[in-house]
Amino acid sequence: MRLVIVGGVAGGMSAAARARRLDENAEIIVLDRGNHVSFANCGLPYFVGGEIENQQSLLVQTPASLKAALNLDVRVRHDVTALDTESRTLTVATEHGTEQLHYDALILSPGALAVRPPLPGIDSPRVHTLRTVEDAIALRGLVTEGARRAVVLGGGFIGIEAAEALRLQGLETSVVELSPHVLPPFEPELAHLITEELTGLGIAVHDGVAASAIEPGAAHDVVVLADGTRIDADLIVLSVGVRPDTEVFGAAGIALERGAIVVDDHGRTSAPQVWAAGDAVVSTCAVTGIRRPFALAGPANRAGRLIADDIFTPALARPIPRPLGTAIVRVGELTAASTGVNKATLQAEGIAHHTLHLHPNQHAGYFPGAAQMHLIVHFREGDGALLGAQAVGPEGIDKRIDVLATALRAGMAIDELIDLDLAYSPPYGMAKDPINLAGMEGENVRTGTIKLWYAQDVDEVLEHTLVLDTRSRAEFASGHLPGALNIPHTELRERLDEVRDAAAGRRTSVMCASGMRSYIAYRVLAQHGFDATTLSGGILTLRAALGDRAAALLVSEPLKESV
Ligand SMILES: Cc1cc2nc3c(=O)[nH]c(=O)nc-3n(C[C@H](O)[C@H](O)[C@H](O)COP(=O)(O)OP(=O)(O)OC[C@H]3O[C@@H](n4cnc5c(N)ncnc54)[C@H](O)[C@@H]3O)c2cc1C
Repeated sequence: MRLVIVGGVAGGMSAAARARRLDENAEIIVLDRGNHVSFANCGLPYFVGGEIENQQSLLVQTPASLKAALNLDVRVRHDVTALDTESRTLTVATEHGTEQLHYDALILSPGALAVRPPLPGIDSPRVHTLRTVEDAIALRGLVTEGARRAVVLGGGFIGIEAAEALRLQGLETSVVELSPHVLPPFEPELAHLITEELTGLGIAVHDGVAASAIEPGAAHDVVVLADGTRIDADLIVLSVGVRPDTEVFGAAGIALERGAIVVDDHGRTSAPQVWAAGDAVVSTCAVTGIRRPFALAGPANRAGRLIADDIFTPALARPIPRPLGTAIVRVGELTAASTGVNKATLQAEGIAHHTLHLHPNQHAGYFPGAAQMHLIVHFREGDGALLGAQAVGPEGIDKRIDVLATALRAGMAIDELIDLDLAYSPPYGMAKDPINLAGMEGENVRTGTIKLWYAQDVDEVLEHTLVLDTRSRAEFASGHLPGALNIPHTELRERLDEVRDAAAGRRTSVMCASGMRSYIAYRVLAQHGFDATTLSGGILTLRAALGDRAAALLVSEPLKESV
């Protein structure tokens, strides 16, 4: 049995290693057009930034180490240029000419290519991508040679990591993002925090604007934006997305869907004895059923392993799970992470849902180092099934998103988060962990124990309802919605008549700083027969959602003497 694998990194090398562990006698050949296999592509930005100092650290394995440990025949600088699925033959371009290679089974894990938009000047030698070890070495070389100004085109995960790395090396760095905010899959009220953090690092963020041209120059290039802004650049990192690297395989008749290889739930393609994994394949989103590639290392690694199972132990092979798209990125002192889908996708797919905004500490407030996190959880109306979650904060973000990803994978409903028995002692969490709190709030929403209003409905709320702000007088004075009535929650029981008079038959929209005090106030009002709602996430979420509009809308006034 000869197994040939095209692509020797995440999906391909996982498949190769598993194949060997399942069959000691198979001939396993791994072909990669690059100079390296099994390299740490996820570590490349940290090498550019100098946090990973040694280039060798990026090379997790070499052909020699793979031969020694797993008896793999790894052939670098072997570019597969054609495939004949009838005769089961690959055409491979090597340094020594073209070879034909027969296979009994073939796994394709060719990954993705950086998208190159048709911008004038895109072919300037100062434009770089960050996909290979060579790319990272080139960028770090430019930094050490004295590049002073960098422009990163694209504010997605890799773009943000690249920008932070270049800034860390002391370059004046700008990020240009066409979407309204960086990290486009994140909810705007969380992305706002990321933008602030980037700005705090000294990175100029140009969001909601396209780069319209690159003007190459003798001393430096100029990146021109659609709004007329001109940014000088000694180097430009192109990071506006990826597309499956599948041209050769599409030409061979393997079925593609919008450029990505179509596979079944064991990774089998349309051709006999040909499997595919990783960034090059179309996957089905576990939450929505939307079909698209998920360019993430975890799903690629797992799919590679499961494909080897399907080839060597088909009776035991489990199907490849549908991805949740769980992802994480460090930005300065913050971590941003997400799992499942965001609000825009839920709205586009017409999935009726509720959203929770929470701002708990990552561990007990009385223990030194307590810091607030910002957590958003979406769950389905009706059965309460979890649909997605995102979090941003300085600590504890990875743990919460990983727990929520596990709950999502397990098909749990929001209320079931209450029951999760999570590790607790003051330095690590809270007796009611943020995950449990999300469950409790979700249960309250499902049972009608609270009714939420949302920051994006602020104009409607201002027009048709009484806003009752239950924060302290000092907090109220520091910025509040116009026309809001301020009654601290501790005084509410004695001042219900004031609320009734001010509401004059309208609904009361309660709010506080983060949602906790307004929840207490809401319960008082509801039990006294008021028609009320409480602001999800409080003014913290409202400010973030309003963004630049917050300064114009919120009223600040000198602190009045108490009445
Ligand atoms: C800078 C960077 C940072 C990243 N950070 C993260 C992260 O933090 N977390 C995360 O989950 N994901 C991250 N990713 C994404 C992750 O690396 C990919 O999702 C994953 O590597 C995909 O695995 P793959 O096997 O499909 O392709 P790859 O790992 O890209 O491997 C494909 C290989 O196939 C080779 N190849 C392609 N076509 C041919 C051909 N015709 N002949 C021979 N060889 C061929 C290529 O040279 C390449 O080496 C990052 C990616 C990059 C570039």
